[in-house]
Order: sequence, then C-alpha cells, then structure tokens
Amino acid sequence: MSESDPICPLCGRSIPADVPQSRHHLVPRLRGGKGGETVLLHQICHNEIHASLSETELARDYSTIAALRAHPRLEKFIRWVAKRPPAFKSKTPGRRRQR
Ligand SMILES: [Zn+2]
Ligand SMILES: [Zn+2]
Repeated sequence: MSESDPICPLCGRSIPADVPQSRHHLVPRLRGGKGGETVLLHQICHNEIHASLSETELARDYSTIAALRAHPRLEKFIRWVAKRPPAFKSKTPGRRRQR
C-alpha cells in the first residue's frame, strides 16, 4: 500500500495495486456515446453496483457516484465493506464474469 494508491469513490477506501479493480462507466456506453466518464473501483464495489442495478437504472437514475452511494443496497454494502481491509477481495469467490 502506498500514498499514491487511488481511492475508490464508492467506498472511499484506497485501492492497492494488487487488489482486483476495474473501471465503471458512469453513463453506460450504449447511452452516453463515446468517451463516457469512468471511475476506478474495487472489483467487489463494481460487482455490487451491477448486482444492484440494471443498465437502464444506471443510465437513468444512477449516473453519478453520489446517486450510487445513496442507493439503499449499495449504502448497506458500503457500510459493510468499509470495515474490511482494502485488500479484501470478494464475498463471492469464483465469480469470474464481469461487465
Ligand atoms: Zn471500493
Ligand atoms: Zn460498471
């Protein structure tokens, strides 16, 4: 872990280089056209977003981090994951397919 680790905007914890991580398109590509804004998230945070919301909901109501953080299920997840170490990987081991 170093001071240059990026911060996950969803849970607010740092993202160490060796932890699974990926980019989320705040506006899904099919709606937002090219070059939509992306944010770097922990893989588990990213998974939780897509487990909680459909692409349509994301595009319509949850295209900002503030909106995502206010979603009831994600808010609960954030509180839960905040108590885990940054290197904590997954509560669902073996799930490999991501979007
Ligand atoms: Zn996170
Ligand atoms: Zn995503």
